[in-house]
Amino acid sequence: MEDCIFCKIIKGEIPSFKVYEDDMVFAFEDINPISEGHTLLIPKIHAQDLWEIPDEDLAAVHLASKKIIQAIKDVLNPTGVACLQLNGRGVNQVVMHYHLHLIPRTAGGPEIPVCAWELKEGDMEAIKQTADKIAAAIK
Ligand code: AMP
Ligand code: ZN
Repeated sequence: MEDCIFCKIIKGEIPSFKVYEDDMVFAFEDINPISEGHTLLIPKIHAQDLWEIPDEDLAAVHLASKKIIQAIKDVLNPTGVACLQLNGRGVNQVVMHYHLHLIPRTAGGPEIPVCAWELKEGDMEAIKQTADKIAAAIK
């Protein structure tokens, strides 16, 4: 897609700190990293989000994520790696080209913001009703 910043990165029209590329996917460092090694992994085709991405490209992204977090583990020895993927402006997706964030946390490093939320028990009846509706809508 012409105006897409990540499509431009894939084509080399915008510079990036590339860490991996194959026929289907491209990975590079986030330039506003939450932590050292914060990496973005994207499909080479332009698909906006999880609703849009074809199965084959989705599989390629997530298979490549294994390879990349292994390298992150070998190099940075993190205590954990968060794999985060946002769908839609309502959850602050900013770049509308599917991307998986790989966010390592190193020993002693600050908590990754999205990984720390307070557990509050829900309304079981409401949860059940929602679960039933979603289950019935699965195609
Ligand atoms: P989001 O759409 O909220 O999941 O996040 C988009 C991410 O893309 C942000 O973490 C940005 O820092 C990152 N980003 C935006 N432009 C670039 C760029 N040119 N190179 C690397 N990372 C980028
Ligand atoms: Zn794109």
